[in-house]
Amino acid sequence: MQANTRPCSGKACHQSVPKALSANQCSSQHTLQSEQFSRACRRPSVLRKAKQGRRQSVLQASGAVLEDKGVDLRREFSAFDRVSVLSEALPYLQRFRGKTIVIKYGGAAMKDPTLKEGVVKDLVLLSCVGINCVLVHGGGPEINIWLNKLGIEAQFKNGLRVTDGPTMDVVEMVLGGRVNKSLVTLIQQAGGMAVGLCGKDSGIIRARQMVEKEIGFVGDITSVDASLLKTLAEDGYTPVVASVAADHTGQALNVNADIAAGEIAAALQAEQLILMTDVPGVLRDKNDISTKFVELDIRETRELVDEGVIAGGMIPKVECCIRCLAQGVNATHIIDGRLPHSLLMELLTDEGVGTMITG
Ligand code: ADP
Ligand code: MG
Repeated sequence: MQANTRPCSGKACHQSVPKALSANQCSSQHTLQSEQFSRACRRPSVLRKAKQGRRQSVLQASGAVLEDKGVDLRREFSAFDRVSVLSEALPYLQRFRGKTIVIKYGGAAMKDPTLKEGVVKDLVLLSCVGINCVLVHGGGPEINIWLNKLGIEAQFKNGLRVTDGPTMDVVEMVLGGRVNKSLVTLIQQAGGMAVGLCGKDSGIIRARQMVEKEIGFVGDITSVDASLLKTLAEDGYTPVVASVAADHTGQALNVNADIAAGEIAAALQAEQLILMTDVPGVLRDKNDISTKFVELDIRETRELVDEGVIAGGMIPKVECCIRCLAQGVNATHIIDGRLPHSLLMELLTDEGVGTMITG
């Protein structure tokens, strides 16, 4: 378990990559052999090792991107640089083409409209190159805004939202309506084809009320029927799923969007689950980006939960990653949704940007 100190694919090198170098070279000019790339395409674990060497530099680069969002790529990089990046993506495009990726997007990472538009464009790009994307979303901040507008007090118990009847009505209206349709609209505007759904549609997510926790209409997922999502995704549509489920009586239940995304990824036998959030990944110290874990296995992740390092909203994220891996999903990632193009960087470049949890 190491934070940001992974060696360069086979050769120890922890230095950062100068801008001028091509994307598949580390600062010591170790070139990743094309043979390694082709093997990497077939074997995710090898691909991951190749990616680890340059994560340190991406971490630094990502800080720079955040500081300077207005960078003009055309001026900063030559046409050659830009097509080189495109070319570097080829093995990843080949590997993911026709595969399904489930992406969870929500909460704080969804607040900034410009970033939201950027995430959606990246998603449309992935769909355009034949990757089946399924988007699952929450929307806590927007729910709070509407509860406030309607004069309903937002209540929490042990960090969990207490969802009484009136609150559940607002949750369903806001997630299934406002938030869901705003994402659908953005995808359509970016040239994609989105279908907005919630867990109730076609019985996608069934749940049972967590009565023992006494937090109202909050559900534990009992089953997922992903057949509609599969049909839509394979036909080129991007399903956008709000994390509202129904119990056997039809009662609407609020379900955690991370868990919903994880269960959907498992039901779809997705290639990857990507959880986009408002932190750079799993951190040992929440205030220090340099303590980010590049990769964790299941045992290490559980230890961090037991130690209390992983807490609050990060717990359902790592739990659903673990469950997904046990059910056959190849890789799970927790990445920073506030970082422009984090989705593409995670999927289509040699570098990764967040924390990968592996089996
Ligand atoms: P989302 O809206 O994306 O689901 P959450 O607030 O539910 O986000 O969960 C992410 C939060 O988890 C972070 O903002 C952070 O405060 C918290 N967190 C708890 N433990 C950790 C950790 N070890 N590393 C990073 N974030 C953590
Ligand atoms: Mg959360």
